[in-house]
Amino acid sequence: MEQTQGGGGAERRRRVVVVGGGIAGSLVAKSLQFHGDVTLIDPKEYLEIPWASLRSMVEPSFAERSLIYHRDYLTNGRIITSSAISVTNTEVLTSEGRLVGYDYLVIATGHADPLPVSKSDRFKQYQAEHEKIEKASSILIVGGGPTGVELAGEIAVDYPDKKLTLVHSGTRLLQFIGPKASNKTLDWFKSKKVEVKLEQSVDLKSVSEISRTFLTSSGETVNADCHFLCTAKPIGSTWLKESVLKDSLDHIGRIMVDENLRVKGHPNVFAIGDITDIKEIKQGYLAQKHALVAAKNLKLLMIGGKEKKMASYHQAHSAIALVSLGRKEAVAQLPFTTLIGHIPGLIKSRDLFVGKTRKQMGLNS
Ligand SMILES: Cc1cc2nc3c(=O)[nH]c(=O)nc-3n(C[C@H](O)[C@H](O)[C@H](O)COP(=O)(O)OP(=O)(O)OC[C@H]3O[C@@H](n4cnc5c(N)ncnc54)[C@H](O)[C@@H]3O)c2cc1C
Repeated sequence: MEQTQGGGGAERRRRVVVVGGGIAGSLVAKSLQFHGDVTLIDPKEYLEIPWASLRSMVEPSFAERSLIYHRDYLTNGRIITSSAISVTNTEVLTSEGRLVGYDYLVIATGHADPLPVSKSDRFKQYQAEHEKIEKASSILIVGGGPTGVELAGEIAVDYPDKKLTLVHSGTRLLQFIGPKASNKTLDWFKSKKVEVKLEQSVDLKSVSEISRTFLTSSGETVNADCHFLCTAKPIGSTWLKESVLKDSLDHIGRIMVDENLRVKGHPNVFAIGDITDIKEIKQGYLAQKHALVAAKNLKLLMIGGKEKKMASYHQAHSAIALVSLGRKEAVAQLPFTTLIGHIPGLIKSRDLFVGKTRKQMGLNS
């Protein structure tokens, strides 16, 4: 599936292929569309703002603003709705067998998360999840990372009468940030009567369809009318493992980049966002910063600028993280303190940065 828009005189411009239309890839593609011949390869026809997805499960209409057609911000580029399955030094291979030639490549495949191809099917998925929540009296959430915590927060606030259980295999919730944030979040859940079971996992195969009873690794049982699996998604680099970039992956599959965000040993290949081995917490606002640095460097290279003039990315040593807890509250890890409640909630929880993200993509908030 391919769409081409605008692009007059494209044959004289350098070909930039961006693989991955998430937070990072969409921004770099948008930023370069009038500077090069840009092609975006993504398996979905839309950009999804990931941190708005949990709100959309309790309020499907929220997704109307958080799902954005790639064609709405990429008005002067080519969109290929497909997955990349391999890459050579000059071409990307898609799952449909297409070879897409490039002069410059940007890899932004973050996490592999199989989502519906069409925006309308993604809406339907939200509606189905919403109905599932509405109908259930008791709900089990498996996974206490940001996704599980934000979903539990949304349900606890919108449906205070439902019995909610959160099971997490780690020793504390939100292990990607500090223990203070974890403890405050645990207390918040207790205040909302959410049962949190730490250091336990759930064997989802053990579920009895009739009694809806789930067995945890400690032998405890959880009764729930429905469950949501919110465990970590795999890094989106499997498609590179047999390719010319296989030696550029670290031991967990992240792409090793230099300070200019180029893949080590591949001067015309950049990598940005969660897929990189940059030692900082994986956050969308940092992925956006990567995108802007890569775009700046690509603009320079495309006009024949000197490599030594390229911008450097400085890793965030004390990055901010905000995890929403329903519509009004949040927990925030800031450089010098950790806060929970309405003040951090004012920053994130009402609009979940959807207006800000849309604006950055050149759209009405
Ligand atoms: C619940 C939750 C809340 C969060 N809240 C915040 C927050 O408040 N603020 C914040 O800054 N960050 C937040 N984050 C983190 C943020 O979502 C990520 O850091 C960000 O999405 C990373 O962007 P990315 O573009 O690198 O990767 P992704 O968003 O994972 O995008 C990857 C893209 O690549 C595509 N792709 C994957 N494989 C292929 C392939 N083989 N071929 C083609 N395309 C492919 C995918 O379809 C997707 O479009 C949150 C994350 C979660 C889970």
